Amino acid sequence: MIKQQTPQLDPYRKKRDPERTPEPFGGGRVAGRRLFVVHKHAARSLHYDLRLEMDGVLKSWAVPKGPSVRPEEKRLAVHVEDHPIEYADFEGVIPPGNYGAGAVIVWDRGWYRPVKEGDPLEQLAKGKLELELFGFKLRGRWTLARMAKKEKEWLLLKKADAAAADAELTERYPQSVFSGLTVEEMRDLPAKRAGLVARLHALKAPRRDLSPRNQPFMLATLAERPFSGKDWLFEVKYDGVRVLASRQEEAVELYGRSGQMITGRYPDLVSA
Ligand code: MN
Repeated sequence: MIKQQTPQLDPYRKKRDPERTPEPFGGGRVAGRRLFVVHKHAARSLHYDLRLEMDGVLKSWAVPKGPSVRPEEKRLAVHVEDHPIEYADFEGVIPPGNYGAGAVIVWDRGWYRPVKEGDPLEQLAKGKLELELFGFKLRGRWTLARMAKKEKEWLLLKKADAAAADAELTERYPQSVFSGLTVEEMRDLPAKRAGLVARLHALKAPRRDLSPRNQPFMLATLAERPFSGKDWLFEVKYDGVRVLASRQEEAVELYGRSGQMITGRYPDLVSA
């Protein structure tokens, strides 16, 4: 079944126990276009993982210093085991004692296209792949080239083009493109959540299901004149629909202002 579809993932699966880590195990979905993702992974040593969708899996490289957008600046990229396609959606904390234990965020994600004609798998086998990346942070042309006489050591470098810059994007944009969290915030999330639960217990908060149906909407109120304050953030008000959203485990419900359930109208919101 699943294993026969992607035997390339056996080394990945052998290193992980599905009972003990929230990471995906593969075999679920077939993706249409070519995904790329860059994880930031605070394992024993902090590194970035570049993953490219190819041959039904994510071909993966660990990049200790992360990608550089400075033209021709070489960054070591160590070829590691293939990962399942769904790994592109994964961020969270791999519990202690598991392979790669530590916090992981989706530092960048998008799609890519091979620059040269022909099968990218063959180009990879030959040791050189040119890519164009269309991510939130990484764009433009890149080269992945295997080092001479090496098997696993590759170099990742940015071609000189409009997307190249004298900047360190890993420092400028440390957050996840999914959650907006840094890898440190992701790491501290379970403790933060546990602290919050402990406080609620101490405050003797009632433990029951809360329906959003009877909760008041946050509505705009008229004021005499505009104001400013350090606890406030201001943004342009776009026209839209006010919705109350609730989630209980995997069950999501959306309610409109007049109280009717409108969950079915926004499937994208529900899956997000
Ligand atoms: Mn990693």
